[in-house]
Amino acid sequence: MGPRKPWVGGNWKCNGTKASIEALCETLNKAEFNPEQIDVVIAPVSLHIHMVKEKLKAGFKVCTQNVSKTGMGAYTGEIAVDHIKDFGLEWTLIGHSERRQYYGETDEVVADKVDICQKAGLCTAVCIGEMLDERKAGKTTDVVKKQIEAFIPKVTDWSKIMIAYEPVWAIGTGVVATPEQAQETHAAIRKILKEKVSAEVAESTRIAYGGSVSDSNCNTLIGLEDVDGFLVGGASLKPAFLDIIKSAL
Ligand code: PGA
Repeated sequence: MGPRKPWVGGNWKCNGTKASIEALCETLNKAEFNPEQIDVVIAPVSLHIHMVKEKLKAGFKVCTQNVSKTGMGAYTGEIAVDHIKDFGLEWTLIGHSERRQYYGETDEVVADKVDICQKAGLCTAVCIGEMLDERKAGKTTDVVKKQIEAFIPKVTDWSKIMIAYEPVWAIGTGVVATPEQAQETHAAIRKILKEKVSAEVAESTRIAYGGSVSDSNCNTLIGLEDVDGFLVGGASLKPAFLDIIKSAL
């Protein structure tokens, strides 16, 4: 872990019922952390956000899993930055690989979403990462470079950007990146930021790892120089998430 404020996110994806979420919030409320020293960010299904905001103790931040590239208006099914801000939320995820794979979110769409969030002053966790065939072909750095370069021109306030590096082959598979793979790609991302933005931004921007993070691998991963936290899917629905938060304190 570097000198940056750690960031640990729980991406609940399209999971949970009122009952299971109530129980999960009770479990998560056992976590002890100082929000001045770590960002712990929970992204439930939008319909559950109100409930989760009420149930989680102060200190947790609640986050949307997606945001519209448009503002409010005649855009059926969307959630606009205005709604997120009006609701008092600080964070949204953008460009999760499931959005990219199943809902056609291109780098251009991700850039539009970064743009609207930056204009609204909303903090964003921008997700990037390569597919298995891209890694096998030795293209990982090229892929993340292209994904990052697409949104760089839209960023005016880097303090509101957190990058989640999530190799697609590691998401939900139980196959976590090795410490070498994670560190190598996180360092490559920082180098891209240094070359394309500035040394200062490269140094201060947080990069969280995501993809099969669990209570059994988090302590090793957080020990890596360029890993500033985690974006957690499956394990964020379990008590294991408490250990993952703890690893980053
Ligand atoms: P996982 O998901 O932890 O279940 O692999 C991570 C993510 O999709 O953010």
